[in-house]
Amino acid sequence: MENSKVPAELCALLLVTLALSCGVLPAQTFQVGTLQVPPSQVQSGYLEVPEGPDGRTRIPVTVINGAARGPALAVIAGIHGYEYPPILASQRLAASIAPQRLKGRVIIVHIANVPSFLKRTTYYSPADQLNLNRVFPGKQDGSLSERIAYVITKEVIERADYLVDLHCGDGNESLRPYSYWMPIGNPKVDEPAKQMALAFGLDHIVIDPTRPNSAAASLYCSNTAMTRGKPAVTIESGGMGVSTDEGEIGAIERGVENLMRHLRMADGKVEMPSKVNWYEPAEVLRFPENLPEKAGLFHARVRKAQVVEKGALLGVVTDFFGKQIYELRAPFAGEVFYVIGTPPISAGEPLAFVCALKGN
Ligand SMILES: [Zn+2]
Repeated sequence: MENSKVPAELCALLLVTLALSCGVLPAQTFQVGTLQVPPSQVQSGYLEVPEGPDGRTRIPVTVINGAARGPALAVIAGIHGYEYPPILASQRLAASIAPQRLKGRVIIVHIANVPSFLKRTTYYSPADQLNLNRVFPGKQDGSLSERIAYVITKEVIERADYLVDLHCGDGNESLRPYSYWMPIGNPKVDEPAKQMALAFGLDHIVIDPTRPNSAAASLYCSNTAMTRGKPAVTIESGGMGVSTDEGEIGAIERGVENLMRHLRMADGKVEMPSKVNWYEPAEVLRFPENLPEKAGLFHARVRKAQVVEKGALLGVVTDFFGKQIYELRAPFAGEVFYVIGTPPISAGEPLAFVCALKGN
């Protein structure tokens, strides 16, 4: 019929629209640092952190570019170098994510903080004594930790659509697995981040609405993503420098895989936990800075995942001669999410993290 003829240009446009809506258009080369990764390929290499007065370093990354288009997910491990299960899980994920079946891109940072990893330092970098997860978005001409944060912000976070920052208890922290949902008052990222926390699959989720909402002073890695419009979650699984716990490493692997299904980057059913416990308030309890003694030995009186009443004794600090100088008590009823498991303690450092079930 004459009047039903469709112009060739319109046909082409319809085909492109159809292909786009089905996500079947071929992916394009994806660049991260100096890596140029064609579709359906995996490349590993380094993000260089330039030389400064305190040295230089480089960040090992693997970039997986899928055969089909989709979002870019950043998976970051080793912001704290003494946190092994995330680092080990990141290596397994790099080997198991098949680019042919991937819709989108995955940027895996295997060890963000190589100086801390190699020197086995908790919290702080051996180069500048800074906590990498308190100096984001970093500075191009700053100290080594600030330059690492700057490179991760520019090369990873700014190229990603979603981010998961993998942590565990540091080398001195005995920790039960949990996730953080950290809303910043922007529904565009807060709600998707909440769904990501659920999709990761850990059934204890801490709500922390106290993180900065300024992109210029984001301090934390996942917060840097959130303040740049990219939904992000922080995960904690493992601790105490243990690198052999398959349960904790496996939980991270399964969490990232489920997150990829949730973001429609991989086929398959999204497994949501049957019941989730939400925690708020949550408080890191520290060795006070206003005591005459500025350091000592911590002796925990509770274990990770222990439920405690308000005022319960969580541990004591003794001086270097064994005399008790401080008693740590629970500020409210809740659960011990982590407790320091080795003796050395200095003023201002964490002793335990207690979280209250929301609504209790
Ligand atoms: Zn950490």
